[in-house]
Amino acid sequence: MKRNEKGAFLMHEMSLMFEIIHLVSEDAAVRGFTKVKKIDVIVGDLSNVLPDALELAFFYLRKEKMGLLDEKSQLHIIREEAKSRCLKCLYEFVPDYRIALCPKCDLPSCVLISGETFRTESYEGSDNFEN
Ligand SMILES: [Zn+2]
Repeated sequence: MKRNEKGAFLMHEMSLMFEIIHLVSEDAAVRGFTKVKKIDVIVGDLSNVLPDALELAFFYLRKEKMGLLDEKSQLHIIREEAKSRCLKCLYEFVPDYRIALCPKCDLPSCVLISGETFRTESYEGSDNFEN
């Protein structure tokens, strides 16, 4: 991987993380929270989001005290495994790519049933500066 490609990846995760923190903080403020303690994010293995880069982006934005984050706020990444199902024989398997041949019948008759998810699952807010 070339240096500028890595940078482009990080920019992608940085803007995703920026958006998540922005939306979560906005929602938390409306609910009367003064702090966001933890954000749970689901990242599918075929979602085109790199968990390491997402974490790095979170650490950076936390350091910048973005939104309602403070130095103790946590990011929890829940990995979602990729899974395909063959529509012919109903065999389920872990594919390397979005499009895969069925390992049983060798047909391109498979659909991805999980692994593309990227979303904020939940967050924990606090209205107390002590915890
Ligand atoms: Zn099959």
